[in-house]
Amino acid sequence: MIAYEDLYLLNQPFMERYRESFSDSLDKGWFILGNKVKAFEDEFAHFCGSRYCAGLASGLDALVLALKYFEFPKGAEVIVPSNTYIATILAIYHNDLVPVLVEPDLHTYNIDPDKIEEQITSLTKAILVVHLYGKSCNMEPVMAIAARHQLKVVEDCAQSHGAGYKGKMTGTFGDFGAFSFYPTKNLGALGDGGALMMQKAEMDEKIRALRNYGCQEKYHNNYIGMNSRLDEIQAGFLSVKLAHLDEINTHKRALAQLYQEGLKDDFIKPQVQQDYHDVYHIYAIRHPQRDKLREHLLKNNIRTEIHYPVPPHHQNALKTRLKGAYPISENIHQTILSLPVSYCHNRQQIEQIVDVMNAF
Ligand SMILES: *Cc1c(COP(=O)(O)O)cnc(C)c1O
Repeated sequence: MIAYEDLYLLNQPFMERYRESFSDSLDKGWFILGNKVKAFEDEFAHFCGSRYCAGLASGLDALVLALKYFEFPKGAEVIVPSNTYIATILAIYHNDLVPVLVEPDLHTYNIDPDKIEEQITSLTKAILVVHLYGKSCNMEPVMAIAARHQLKVVEDCAQSHGAGYKGKMTGTFGDFGAFSFYPTKNLGALGDGGALMMQKAEMDEKIRALRNYGCQEKYHNNYIGMNSRLDEIQAGFLSVKLAHLDEINTHKRALAQLYQEGLKDDFIKPQVQQDYHDVYHIYAIRHPQRDKLREHLLKNNIRTEIHYPVPPHHQNALKTRLKGAYPISENIHQTILSLPVSYCHNRQQIEQIVDVMNAF
């Protein structure tokens, strides 16, 4: 059986160093906001070409805090793609803001910049883009629209650690880049974690306060903050893995290349474009008979996933709030299939999957 993902195998090459880092934390007896968090924040900021990075408890919290930072009035609107993972939209609701869904481009799966401006109203305050599946959004037009309408830009980088656009990494275009270190992400911890990238000292200071009850000086609170800190043990694990993130992304890109070259054109493959450095958090193809194809693969001992089976506007939690038709998003949700593309997979496995796919 070829697994879709195997977190044991994925982490095996790093286990010795994880154990050393964990032992070090135990020996030092320091577990919250210490040297390991600070070191990881600096390393990850450097990796992304960002000035500041604050470690947080999760990717959802990173998005929630990014929006909280601006103190937008209740009911202000945030533009967001209609085909994202639900966390992106939950972050908007957690701030008493209103998501305004914009359809993606059918070929890149990312927000279609040509459809943003028609959704901007006097209530619009921000654009929340998502670099889905490890591919950067088309950031030049997005940033131009934001400048024209004086909107803030937050990037959901939960799937795009190391992905680039015109030589710059995702997370460094907008006001904030929000990252998740959920274990399956390209840079995954051994539990939950997240981070915000930003370029201004005052933003970094306020986010650090917001993640720690709004406190900048012990027992003096300037903001209505949260408890959303990356913990020392996870930060230690993340530093170990970050040193190999380039290698992980290179491996995933090589596997994706095998699919690109090997798969028949019956399958709609991810777009490869100049100016984009894709890191294939997910390698997704589309096919009109997606469910039959998935069954065929399972019969041949190949596990796949669907990202995602239900679009946000059809979720029970959201369907009464999110009105409107999103046919492109629905088409993607009905036809998309994620193939194995992990650091734990090898070329032979991908070649085997290509053969089984092409025989469908
Ligand atoms: C994983 C993910 C999140 C949420 O991250 P968590 O760390 O699980 O809270 C947000 N947005 C996208 C696009 C994701 O893939």
